[in-house]
Amino acid sequence: MERILTSETPKKIGEKVKLMGWVHNLRDHGKITFLDLRDKTGIIQCVGQNIPKLTLESVVEVVGQVVERPEKMINQNLETGRIELQIEKINVISVAGEMPLPLEGDGYDIDEKTRMKYRYLDLRRARMTHNIRLRSETTLWIRNYLSKNGFVEIETPILTKTTPEGARDFLVPSRLRPGNFYALPQSPQQYKQLLMVSGFERYFQIARCFRDEDPRADRAYGEFTQLDIEMSFVTQKDILTLSEELFTQLVGSIFPHKKITQSPWPRLSHQDARKNYGTDKPDLRKDKNNPDELAFCWILDFPLFTQQSDQDFFHGSGKAKFAPSHHMFTAPHPDDIGLLDSDPAKVRGLQHDLVLNGFEVGGGSIRIHDPKIQEKIFDLIGFSTKQKKEFEHVLAAFGYGVPPHGGIASGLDRFLMVVLGEPSVREVIAFPATAGGQTAVMDAPGKATPAQLRELGIKVSTVPKEK
Ligand code: ASP
Repeated sequence: MERILTSETPKKIGEKVKLMGWVHNLRDHGKITFLDLRDKTGIIQCVGQNIPKLTLESVVEVVGQVVERPEKMINQNLETGRIELQIEKINVISVAGEMPLPLEGDGYDIDEKTRMKYRYLDLRRARMTHNIRLRSETTLWIRNYLSKNGFVEIETPILTKTTPEGARDFLVPSRLRPGNFYALPQSPQQYKQLLMVSGFERYFQIARCFRDEDPRADRAYGEFTQLDIEMSFVTQKDILTLSEELFTQLVGSIFPHKKITQSPWPRLSHQDARKNYGTDKPDLRKDKNNPDELAFCWILDFPLFTQQSDQDFFHGSGKAKFAPSHHMFTAPHPDDIGLLDSDPAKVRGLQHDLVLNGFEVGGGSIRIHDPKIQEKIFDLIGFSTKQKKEFEHVLAAFGYGVPPHGGIASGLDRFLMVVLGEPSVREVIAFPATAGGQTAVMDAPGKATPAQLRELGIKVSTVPKEK
């Protein structure tokens, strides 16, 4: 007999079926046992006599007849609440030991270390299963939407060279060229711009980005996922319009009970946002107690540079007063080009930030496509000849016919955190690192063996003492 799913049982009244799943709940009433069986589609009550001893969360196979429940036994809260399965045969496939953490309830009050150590169990929790499924629906919807709109999904390398977004790089030692290192990409920024030189015109990627910066509730440690987009022959307005349509339709399709506060989304200058709200991430919800309200807004006209103190020189440049406020490929506002020489602090950038309920959920810009301006920006941020050489491939590529281009990247984890009303991005990622940077379930980072280090030509000088 073929296994069927719980969700199919209401159509099988009177039939004998086979189900497989987990023991979700057990109620032993002497001779009669009620067993709630759970699979990926839901829960069904199974009833039997002389059932062998079972433990919760064991995996079982149950064969029996689907019958209607008596009127007064109907459970309105369950999709299968009008029926139950009369157990004829039960087979224990895998016995579960005692759970190391409770799986019922929302789980917020359970120690995070325990939740992450047993994340594969924590993901059985209904709230987590729901979040991860909605995440999958969201990315599928985005893929379909962008593909229909002429975008090509292209993967870019993970083992690569630094692409500074203002954070610290993760380095990976090279075995083939000992003493050399790859950097994990802080974003696919350079590759997506090179793909515009290649002529794809509309690129997207659900891209993993790696930044070694301290975690926060709205930022997972180490890696995060962004919807990365780049387009050729566009203005900033085109990028904003596309993003606005994408997210509005996405919310309508996947999160239909959510209400967007204002459409079209308000567009504020950086200066006005700071003046009127004291922040460049204003929360424009009308009613902050309403969990179903989504207030998107755009922040525009950022200064191209932030001025920096001696301590935080951008990328160790060592001498410049300026650091890019977005990244170094952002184009200056065409009206302000003259100011690059006379008063760089006053230059506005063609940058756009997307804010949702007070969280920055996206950012992007129109890019520089003139190698001369790119060089000028490198000079202003204090790049040495050696540092410029690190990016000479970009300048070289721009010498072979580059379309004007721009794009945006939206943080998927953060977007989902806000839409699902979760307190942390870790609630929407299947296996996030803990706040302390330890990977979920597996114990990384860990030590390399002496043989591995030898092969890589690496000597570790700061080995913490074993406790
Ligand atoms: N690369 C930028 C980021 O990751 C986004 C962009 O400019 O498209 O923030």
